[in-house]
Amino acid sequence: MIWFAVLLSVLCAAVNTQNCPTIVSRAQWGGKTPTCKRMSVPVPNVIIHHTEGAFCSSRSTCSAQARNIQNYHINTNKWCDIGYNFLIGEDGAVYEGRGWTTIGAHATTYNPISIGISFIGSFTDRAPNNAALNAAKQLIACGVAKNFIRSNYVLKGHRNVMSTSCPGDSLYKVIKGWPRFAA
Ligand SMILES: [Zn+2]
Repeated sequence: MIWFAVLLSVLCAAVNTQNCPTIVSRAQWGGKTPTCKRMSVPVPNVIIHHTEGAFCSSRSTCSAQARNIQNYHINTNKWCDIGYNFLIGEDGAVYEGRGWTTIGAHATTYNPISIGISFIGSFTDRAPNNAALNAAKQLIACGVAKNFIRSNYVLKGHRNVMSTSCPGDSLYKVIKGWPRFAA
């Protein structure tokens, strides 16, 4: 039976890796690495945002946006770090924010019970490209596979938990059709 357990864990590790998109680490995008409060995982919710700023579609421009947003959240908002757990660029990459196990600052009462994922750009008039949408879906699947997100999680837009237009009408229309969405 031991060989079977070993085989199973090797297979599971392969599946886990396969489910995870490219995550650009903070060191890779030139971010600061402050320490904020941890949260207990797996979390029961995923909250989708847009940054409501400039679009980006390359590693260098998305990294620059991540740095801009982190600086704004730290220097102007006086938060301990960039507010989101992860950001998504239209280069199809995921940018590490607070990550899987640190409480974000993106949806007030939902902060300690959710992963906040923000698409870089303003998605009121158009939806993010497929590369970005697929990266976000893969990231959620990865979080479930690694047990950072409950398998019965609820997906919401920021506007479902707070009075805001976030994540923009066009992006909101898209995520309403995703699995496990509930307003
Ligand atoms: Zn938001």
